[in-house]
Amino acid sequence: MHSGGTGTLIVTGGSRGIGAATARLAAAQGYAVAVNYARDEGAARAVVAAISASGGRAVAIGADVAVEADVLRLFAEAERALGPITALVNNAGITGGRARLADVSVEAVARVLAVNVAGSILCAREALRRMSTRRGGGGGAIVNVSSLAARIGGAGDWVHYAASKGAINSMTVGLAREAAEEGVRVNAVAPGLIETEIHAANGMPDRLAQLAPTVPMRRAGSPDEVASAILWLLSPAASYVTGTIVEVGGGR
Ligand code: NAP
Repeated sequence: MHSGGTGTLIVTGGSRGIGAATARLAAAQGYAVAVNYARDEGAARAVVAAISASGGRAVAIGADVAVEADVLRLFAEAERALGPITALVNNAGITGGRARLADVSVEAVARVLAVNVAGSILCAREALRRMSTRRGGGGGAIVNVSSLAARIGGAGDWVHYAASKGAINSMTVGLAREAAEEGVRVNAVAPGLIETEIHAANGMPDRLAQLAPTVPMRRAGSPDEVASAILWLLSPAASYVTGTIVEVGGGR
């Protein structure tokens, strides 16, 4: 049961923010979309309902990307419901909370690395096992959601989080080279300040207003602006683009 359009996309953390915008735009472009979430089933179902109301195909699948058994089930359920996986957006991510490095807890560091790094690698592995032409797959594309923090370091807020996104950048470049002959392109987007709930969730509801003046464009970006870059990287329009990190940060 193939979607017949652009294929099947899994968006991890597709229930809110950048992931939800990506799921909606992908569905509008013809992808069948698996909208993954961790805890907020209602938010994921709302994204699926909006896609269905617009004539698209989507399912909500709960899975913690840091848990291998959950990731295996996510891919199996997505494939069963929507057809062969042709695209993955590794978007699920957490900051671990705001803390100077001298005050960060080992639990926060471990959880950030488990979700952001191990989770993305596990999902990429499952995608590769299905897409790789070396393994009988039909090829595909992966986009990892990194952060500008990987370049600017997250000083004063979350160096631990920035370091996790540095790992995502390395994974993007390495996996792109490894999979280049297997029909799979791997790229990343590195968003800057984006209007999502992640800031308030970390106790900084005013963060965007405070930092917007430091952005050359003098504003935060929208989740849709990040989704556009992600969908371009997934699309045939980017057929010779792999191992690239596209910054979506208003010049920051
Ligand atoms: P958000 O609004 O907080 O949404 C996070 C999404 O990830 C939610 O759908 C959440 O699902 C899901 N999620 C969290 N932990 C998960 C887990 N263990 N397994 C599966 N799903 C999980 O975040 P956002 O701002 O859109 O961020 C999305 C990505 O962009 C992240 O990787 C983030 O680091 C990156 N980013 C964001 C910004 C920014 O300014 N917003 C800037 C640079 C990079 P539940 O609600 O069910 O937990």
